[in-house]
Amino acid sequence: MERSEISKLGEFGLIDRISKRFEKNLSSTVLGIGDDAAVIDIGNEYLLMSTDMLIEGPHFNLSYVPLKHLGYKAVAVNVSDIAAMNGRPEQITISLGLSNRFSVEAVDELYEGIKAACKSFNVDLVGGDTTSSPAGLTIAINIIGRVAKDQIAYRTGAKVNDIICATGDLGAAYMGLQVLEREKEVFLSNPNMQPDLEKYEYIVGRQLKPEARMDIVYDLLESKIVPTSMIDISDGIASELLHISAQSGVGVKVFEDKLPIDGQTYETAVEMNLDPVTCALNGGEDYELLFTINPSEYEKLKNHPDIHFIGHIHSDASQNLLITKQGNVVALKAQGWTHF
Ligand code: ADP
Ligand code: MG
Repeated sequence: MERSEISKLGEFGLIDRISKRFEKNLSSTVLGIGDDAAVIDIGNEYLLMSTDMLIEGPHFNLSYVPLKHLGYKAVAVNVSDIAAMNGRPEQITISLGLSNRFSVEAVDELYEGIKAACKSFNVDLVGGDTTSSPAGLTIAINIIGRVAKDQIAYRTGAKVNDIICATGDLGAAYMGLQVLEREKEVFLSNPNMQPDLEKYEYIVGRQLKPEARMDIVYDLLESKIVPTSMIDISDGIASELLHISAQSGVGVKVFEDKLPIDGQTYETAVEMNLDPVTCALNGGEDYELLFTINPSEYEKLKNHPDIHFIGHIHSDASQNLLITKQGNVVALKAQGWTHF
């Protein structure tokens, strides 16, 4: 048989291929593959279940990522997928692959960050698995959470005229990574040079210590708003907008001048000869929330300091549009992070 390269399918093509080979057999399986978390009917509520794996190399570089931060981030990115369903996180299990490069003290440091995240997101660590690994560090986390049945937010529910909302700011984690990579090069070429990161504190912090936006989930609950659709922004907002479009069967229209970009992100992008808007649209690891609301809910959210209204939904799923600052209409493209 001919050998096919995974890169030809890409990550999403591969997931699609896997998903086609499995059907749901249990009546309790409400939703399997295809959203930020699987949805399981447990009676009066839905149980949410998700998993995310971080691997040394593609996901993190320990020459500039402190283990404590890494532990925090590993938990936060999982909590983010529960937040994306409008749910509350509850328990996690953690599986570790460790090469002999890592000491007991290193594992302690990693778990210090994990503990801080458990405290901050109010989740319990309830198990895991530990194994040796030929090289590097692998952290795989499973998370479960819960959501009331009438409060769940899928990627599939965006409706014509809904307002598109994004939390926080975009592209900062990506710019933080660019700074860390640049400083690493400087450090490697001259170990006596200490990296000067003070100027980049915010964006480096966004890369090293992302927060899952559970605060937004609670704010929405308090405002009695259920988003019509929601996804967390892990691969860049352009890619996530296209997921909402494809899975809801609608088109998105977003305005470049409405994209929330922090000043430090903007300045650092310019300094590195990058386009700040491209970084905001495609830089990964923001772990903010992208959601849509019925226009009738706008009044309740319009004064929220950290929710930005970036566009709206229209009927044509083949027309995903970006309106530039000059008023030009261009096709929204995702150039986000690809694994293969
Ligand atoms: P996210 O970025 O929110 O973590 P992903 O893009 O990783 O989501 O995954 C999209 C969907 O595909 C999810 O429902 C996830 O559970 C599923 N998925 C990803 N990888 C696999 C796999 N190897 N086998 C089965 N399902 C998978
Ligand atoms: Mg997600």
